[in-house]
Amino acid sequence: MKKICSNSFENWIFDLDNTVYDIKLGLFSKISNRITEYIIRALSITRDEANLVRSAMYKKYGLTLTGLMREYGISPDEYLYYIHDVTHPELKYDEQLKLKLNNLSGRKFIYTNASQDHAKNILSAMGIDSEFEKILDIKATGYLPKPDPKSYNIMLKSFDISINEIGNSIFIEDTAKNLKPAKLLGLKTVWIENDFNLQDYREHSGSVDYKYSDLNSFLNDIDSRN
Ligand SMILES: [Mg+2]
Repeated sequence: MKKICSNSFENWIFDLDNTVYDIKLGLFSKISNRITEYIIRALSITRDEANLVRSAMYKKYGLTLTGLMREYGISPDEYLYYIHDVTHPELKYDEQLKLKLNNLSGRKFIYTNASQDHAKNILSAMGIDSEFEKILDIKATGYLPKPDPKSYNIMLKSFDISINEIGNSIFIEDTAKNLKPAKLLGLKTVWIENDFNLQDYREHSGSVDYKYSDLNSFLNDIDSRN
């Protein structure tokens, strides 16, 4: 694969959770715990039953929320508020990261299966919110999550990326299966490595153009000499 330069792409599309911040910070495990807690409360079931519902919904719909809405009539706003109601002292204001993002020419976006409020909280805690032109969240996709191919068409439209510009676009994600529809559309893809999603990576490695241990190593490797 060709070395990426800061002007290699017109559109840089980033996932949020476990991509913009490192999975090792443990922030997402707090959100994950609250997803299970929500299911226990909302459906009045045991933890074991909630775990079964959760994995079945995730497997069938690609996102637990979408399954809970379709099969259990869950209110998405209440759910999203509850699961993202976590503190994040792990996140630090990161001037270096901001500079590295700023060094990329072209437009930068966030494409997340989480909520707009959560994305804004994360990005502003890290001091990088102003680097992104637009955030596409799960509500704005009509609750069609990645990796549903329909979600990616909504994303391209929302970010005003024409068919001709797709080859000029790159998508950076920690969940490899979410890279597959992007790769099929013609975007370049970056997998942010993590042990948690390793099995998923093995199944979808054909959809990965580049892989890096974290966002910083990806940005550090970008040649700014153009
Ligand atoms: Mg992610």
